[in-house]
Amino acid sequence: MFKTEYVKNVYANLVEKNKSEAEFLQAAQEILASLEPYIAAHPELESKKILERFLEPERFVQFKVVWTDDKGNYQVNRGYRVQYNSAIGPYKGGIRFHPSVNASIIKFLGLEQTLKNSLTSLPMGGGKGGSDFDPKGKSDAEILRFCQSFMTELYRHIGPDSDVPAGDIGVGAREIGYMFGQYKKITNEFSGVLTGKGLSYGGSLARKEATGYGLCYFTNEALKALKDTDFNGKTVVVSGSGNVAIYANQKATELGAKVVAMSDSNGYVYDPNGINLDVIKQIKEVERARIVEYTKRVPGSTYVEGSRNIWEVKCDIALPCATQNELHLEDAKKLVANGCIAVCEGANMPSTLEAAKYFIDNKVVFGPAKAANAGGVATSGLEMTQNSNRLSWTFEEVDNKLHGIMVNIFKNAYAKAVELGNKYDLVTGANIAGFEKVCDAMIAQGI
Ligand code: NDP
Repeated sequence: MFKTEYVKNVYANLVEKNKSEAEFLQAAQEILASLEPYIAAHPELESKKILERFLEPERFVQFKVVWTDDKGNYQVNRGYRVQYNSAIGPYKGGIRFHPSVNASIIKFLGLEQTLKNSLTSLPMGGGKGGSDFDPKGKSDAEILRFCQSFMTELYRHIGPDSDVPAGDIGVGAREIGYMFGQYKKITNEFSGVLTGKGLSYGGSLARKEATGYGLCYFTNEALKALKDTDFNGKTVVVSGSGNVAIYANQKATELGAKVVAMSDSNGYVYDPNGINLDVIKQIKEVERARIVEYTKRVPGSTYVEGSRNIWEVKCDIALPCATQNELHLEDAKKLVANGCIAVCEGANMPSTLEAAKYFIDNKVVFGPAKAANAGGVATSGLEMTQNSNRLSWTFEEVDNKLHGIMVNIFKNAYAKAVELGNKYDLVTGANIAGFEKVCDAMIAQGI
C-alpha cells in the first residue's frame, strides 16, 4: 500500500494505537499515500518525526451530556471535541449531532479539517466535535435542553481565540443559536466563539450558502481546466438534502445546470424537469420531513428507496453532499459507465478510497472534500474577521471573497497535481498543498 519504509511504519503504528477506528484510519491512509512523494523529496522530515507529530491530535475531550426529554425522563449522550492541530491558527471545525458519531468519526473529521483549513489560506487550525445525540423527531424544547447541556461542558474547552466551533450534520442555525446563548450566559461574554450564527447576532451573510456555493465554484473551475467546459447545460445529481446539498443545487442551477435527483438517508427523488428547490426547502428546512414527500407535491417525480441508489441516475456531474462513505466502488463504476465527467465532494469523505481511485484512473474530474467543500469553513473564517472587527460585509462582498478563495484552492491543488505528473490527481495535490504550510509551522514552533 505504501512505498517507503518510514510511511509504512507510521501507518502500522497508527493502526496499532487506533485499531477500532475505521474512519480515522481510512482518512489517514489516504493522506499518507498522497504525502509519500513530498516526504521522499524532503528526507530530513523523517528524523523530525513530522508525520507522527501531524497525525497525533493535540487534545481529545470526551464528556457526558445529561438532559431531560419532554416526558421528564433523563437521557445520557456522549459529547466530543478534538483539537487536532493549532499550528496555523485557533482550532476551527464543526459540531455534528448524529447517532453514528464516535471517536473515530470525530478524529477523521478533525484530521481532514486541519488540511482543509490550511488550503483556505486563512489562519485556522483544525478541530471537530459532536455527539451521538439524534435530533430526528425531537421537539424544539428537547433540542434546546440538549444544546444547553452540551455547551455547559464544552464552554470550558473553547473560546474566540482558541477554538471556534461551527455547524455540521444535525447542527444548523437553530442549534448554533441555542449553544451560543448558553455560552454567553455562562461566560458573560458576547464574542465570536461560534460561527454559523444568526444574522441578528453576529452571523455572516452567505455563510448558510457557502459550502454548496463554494463546491460549485470549485467544480466549475476544475471543469474549465480539465475538460474545457462548465456547468452550463449539464445534468447534475446531488445526494443529501441538507445545508450543503440545497445550496449546491441552487448554485449549480444558477450556473445553467439541471439538478434531477436529491436524497435523504431513506431514498432519493428523481424529477426529470429539474428538482423544485422551493419544495425541497419547505420539506427539509421548514417541516423537517422525509424527502419522499416531494413526490406527493410535484407531479412527474418518482421516489426510489435506498439512498445509495441515487448513483444509478444518469448524469454529467455528481455532487455527493450527504455523509461519509456514501459512494462505493460499484457506484463509481455505474457513474462512469453512464458518462459522468465530474464528481466533486460536498460531504466529508463521501467516496471510499477505491471509488476515489477509480475516478482518478478514469480521468473523471474528482474534487476531494478537503478542497471542494472548504467554502463553508472559509466563510466561517470571514465571519470571525467580521466579528473581531465588529463590522458586517454585504452578501456580495462575502460571496466574492468565497469565489476568490475557491478558485485559489483549485489552482493550488491543481498546480501540485500537475507538478507530480497526474493533473487528475487533485487528492494528492490538495493533501500536499494543505500539508506544506502546517508542516512548516509545526517545525518552526517545535510542536
Ligand atoms: P445536514 O444535517 O444539513 O444534512 C445532511 C444530509 O445528509 C441530510 O439530507 C441527511 O438525510 C443526509 N444523510 C445523513 N446521513 C446519511 C446517510 N447515512 N445516507 C444518506 N444520507 C444521509 O448536514 P450538512 O449538509 O451540513 O452536511 C452534509 C455533509 O457535508 C457532511 O459530511 C458534513 O460534514 C459536510 N460539510 C458540511 C459543511 C457545512 O457548512 N454544513 C461544511 C463542510 C462539509 P436525513 O435527513 O435522512 O438524515
